[in-house]
Parts: sequence; structure tokens; C-alpha cells
Amino acid sequence: MDVLSLIVSESEDVNELPEPIKAHIQDVTSREYEYRDNSVHVTELLYCLRKAYYRRMARKSGDNLEEGLDKKWYLYRGLIFDELWTGLFPRNQVRITHRIPEGPTIVGRIDFIHDGVLYELKTISNGYAIKDGPKEQHVKQALFYAWVENVKRVRLIYVHLGGVKIYEIDTSRAYEVVKELEERARKLWSAIKTMQPPEREESWECKYCEFREICLGGDSR
Ligand code: SF4
Repeated sequence: MDVLSLIVSESEDVNELPEPIKAHIQDVTSREYEYRDNSVHVTELLYCLRKAYYRRMARKSGDNLEEGLDKKWYLYRGLIFDELWTGLFPRNQVRITHRIPEGPTIVGRIDFIHDGVLYELKTISNGYAIKDGPKEQHVKQALFYAWVENVKRVRLIYVHLGGVKIYEIDTSRAYEVVKELEERARKLWSAIKTMQPPEREESWECKYCEFREICLGGDSR
């Protein structure tokens, strides 16, 4: 039998999934966002600060940045693995707060700590995404957590449907990362207080940035 001749239609569109699954994607991904003026999330500091600023301002003005399901997919798949795996460990979803003197507090959440090792889980499309090694942002996030929580061993676990890749990261220079992120936290905090966007940090991110037009268009800073 020529099974290909039996295909009535085909789609790679997430929006074609059954309603209960789409509702689940909406529900799981909408739990993630919560911003406070005196704290910044570590993940806001790892990518373009200007984008983080615009996101905050959009929330403040009541724009909930309703993104299409296709964009939410990337967040969703990560949250699903987090839910499945981190619950296996007694020390999971460990909340981190790092107060900067006369500055904001950096907050975050460690996936889990097991046998004296801090683990950070990351979901990727396939092994190609890490062909050059772990992502700089992920290494910095894990090292920041390690320093704040005083854990000496760190592992990054990358998960994709074809398998896993596990990197152990040297924590001896974690304090350098902490200082760098403190500096960035101050910058973002000051931008939020003065309502002046930080300077552009142009990179590969711009191509996918939802604020590309207002950032690269109207504002000349
Ligand atoms: S377009 Fe680029 S520089 Fe501007 S906010 Fe987005 S990521 Fe940052």
C-alpha cells in the first residue's frame, strides 16, 4: 500500500493541535511571568537588557504580550521537562535571592540539587544546537546559582528528543559571573527607575526580537 497517498493533509503548525493541548500550553506558559520593581530575574540579565526593559514596560502598560503558540512552544517544552524531572529530587525548584547593596535583588530558581551537585536543565531542539558546547548564558546562570547557594559542583543537562548531553562546569570563576550580573542588574534597575531604555546590545537576538521595530526604528539611542 502506498501510505503516502492516504495523507489527507499535513501541518507543522502548533495551532493545529487539539484544543486541550493548546489550552495546556497557554496555561503552563502563562504561569511564568511575574515582575517586581525591586527585583530582576537572572534570566533577564543573560540576554539583551534593552529587550528585558521593553518587556517590563510592556507589562506595566497592561500589554500582556500575547505571543503566538509557536513562540510559546519553546518555553513550554522546557517547562514540561522541568515538571517531569525536578520533582524527582527533594531539593528542587530552589529559590535564589541575591541582594545587591543599594541595588536590586537578583532572583532565580535552581532546578535541583542532588548529591552536592547543582543541576540546570535546558531543553533544545536537537544536538546541533550545542555543537560548539554549552551556551554561554546557561553556563553563567548555573555559575551564578552555584556561587549564591555555595555549591561547588555544577552540571548542565541539555535534553532533546534524540537524547541528552551533560556538561560539568568548573565553578572556580563563578564570582566573576556574579560581579558581571550584578553590574547588569544595576543597569536594568536604573533603566526601569528612570524609564530610559538601556543601550542596544545588537546580536543574533535582534532577528527574533519582538521589539525590533521600536528598538531599531523610533528611538535613536
Ligand atoms: S532589537 Fe536587538 S538590541 Fe533591540 S531590544 Fe531587541 S535584541 Fe535588544
